[in-house]
Amino acid sequence: MRNILKKNFVVVTSVAQRRAIALATRCFLFVVFTLMSCSAPQAALTPIATETPQPPTKTSTPSLTATKFLTETPASTPTQVGVKRGPGIVRCTILLYHHVGISPIESQYYIHPENFSLQMKALDEWGFTPIPLSLLVKAINEGAILPEKPVVISFDDGRMDIYENAFPIMQKYDFTGIFYVLSGGLGDKGLVDVAELQEMAAAGWEIGSHSNSHADLSKIGADASYREVVRSREILEEELGFPVTSFAYPFGTITEIAGKQIHIAGYESAAGLGHTDSQGPGNLFYLQRRPISWDYDLKRFAIVLGWEGPLLIEKEHE
Ligand SMILES: [Zn+2]
Repeated sequence: MRNILKKNFVVVTSVAQRRAIALATRCFLFVVFTLMSCSAPQAALTPIATETPQPPTKTSTPSLTATKFLTETPASTPTQVGVKRGPGIVRCTILLYHHVGISPIESQYYIHPENFSLQMKALDEWGFTPIPLSLLVKAINEGAILPEKPVVISFDDGRMDIYENAFPIMQKYDFTGIFYVLSGGLGDKGLVDVAELQEMAAAGWEIGSHSNSHADLSKIGADASYREVVRSREILEEELGFPVTSFAYPFGTITEIAGKQIHIAGYESAAGLGHTDSQGPGNLFYLQRRPISWDYDLKRFAIVLGWEGPLLIEKEHE
């Protein structure tokens, strides 16, 4: 820009004239920057507004993304108030999903992406904050500051549809989860590969072991169980290049041998199935998870979370 000005004003020599030019240049630059700063956020906001998930009721719910842009707040949950929880029993629902996709067959394990999206939106609106499983474990072991309504979102089996469907939906809300995968199935048909897992980990997800081959631990011997429990962790850590600290029992089945091998492997926690949100030292190696079935509506979802807000609101309207 200076070169252009120099060319155009090459004949100017006096101090007064130079000052006048300098002032004019500053005014010109000020106008340019003002125009740029007004138009930039507009240009950035327009496409984002169209990307927001469509709420079923067209209320004045602002999109999280747009709000973040307007306030320029880097924190993902700026209004979240932390509460000291633990050590000891910590109440925290751990949700369990298997597939987020459109089922080719009748299956309770397939959550339709639209339903999953509504469930994530509900979590956000009801004030839940997904936390890393490792933070829950820390709270149980030594105490930690947790959000007021913590929840852990877990996924079993390492399916590609979790990467393709659940991961981007959760990213809209700045949610992260823990993905339990098979060390023997990385990159197999329909299953995620190392690159996808590393991308998810870079976005804040945790990766756990769901054994090597999804064997029923109650139907195999000690050596085979060792491969499923202990070796699977070693293989995943070698492949991924970061620690894998949690294990999820295939079919939720734990055995005496596997219970010992969990400690040999050095896992910090292990996850099973259950019907409670009570997590503590007594079940740190069989954390209670609530499977979400394909036919759960938001009322049922709310009950799983121990949150009856929407039900109460409905009663008031009756
Ligand atoms: Zn499984």
